[in-house]
Amino acid sequence: MLDNKTPGKDISETDLIERLPLVTRSSFGGAPRVRVGEIEFGGSDIPIFAGPNMVESEELIVNCAKEVKSAGAHFLRGGAFKPLTFPYRSEKYRESGLEGLNWLATAKRESGLKVITEVMDVKHLDAVCLVADVLQIGSRNMQNFPLLIECAKTGFPIMLKRHYGASLRDWLGAAEYILHAGNGNLILCERGVSAPHTHRHTSRFLLDLQVVPAARELTHLPIIVDPSHATFWRGWVPSMAMAAIAAGADGVMLEVHPDPPNAAVDPLQSIDFLDLQRLLPVMNSIANALNRRVLF
Ligand code: PEP
Ligand code: MN
Repeated sequence: MLDNKTPGKDISETDLIERLPLVTRSSFGGAPRVRVGEIEFGGSDIPIFAGPNMVESEELIVNCAKEVKSAGAHFLRGGAFKPLTFPYRSEKYRESGLEGLNWLATAKRESGLKVITEVMDVKHLDAVCLVADVLQIGSRNMQNFPLLIECAKTGFPIMLKRHYGASLRDWLGAAEYILHAGNGNLILCERGVSAPHTHRHTSRFLLDLQVVPAARELTHLPIIVDPSHATFWRGWVPSMAMAAIAAGADGVMLEVHPDPPNAAVDPLQSIDFLDLQRLLPVMNSIANALNRRVLF
């Protein structure tokens, strides 16, 4: 049960009762789980999302789907619509958009994996819903409330990534919008926050693992961790993925690419297929110590 006497740092008792009644655990009197088909989040199973940052080509995404499936992942990730920081594009560095959604559909059909992909714009929502099993709301859109409401209204499961500058209060406020619009199939995703000391000049964010137990004190919503975007450095991804399991994450999202240094987007952070194959059993050992299991 939620202890209303000890709400989070910037979350008051009034917030919990009046502003966050749907995301707070007390309003449900338990811990309802989120289901995506036969996969459940928030119970003892810990599903894995894996795939490239961007759906670069049909060949790449079909290959990734087969490889991450054989390593044991249950969800293929990959963006056809990307929130790229700068507006300049090249032949290689270009969102695949609607064509990319078709390639994702082929990868889904050929692998049998479930698909998570980002929705950037309401105008593409119908097209994304034709292929996605989970709608990803990216960090930068965490407080794009019209987008959140339209995604919620589809009834599709949603993964809401935390903005890298957002407090837990703001993140849960955005989650409340989705629940308020009638969709309780919501998974939170921590992906690193802006911080002064990230220990490498290329690493922009710091993984906030503390938010996992902090969120658990306040909400029934499952919370997963994306160590790839958080660390921005593949050498740190395995240890942070293991730490996420130890911290109680309900899932892990990993960026995986056949040739990481040549990935079109974020080449520093992707691990390769062999890294994934080696990592999942170790994560599972940690989960087993906590009476959970990594689904792989
Ligand atoms: C992603 O997962 O592809 C992504 C763009 O992440 P974020 O929104 O966390 O930056
Ligand atoms: Mn990225």
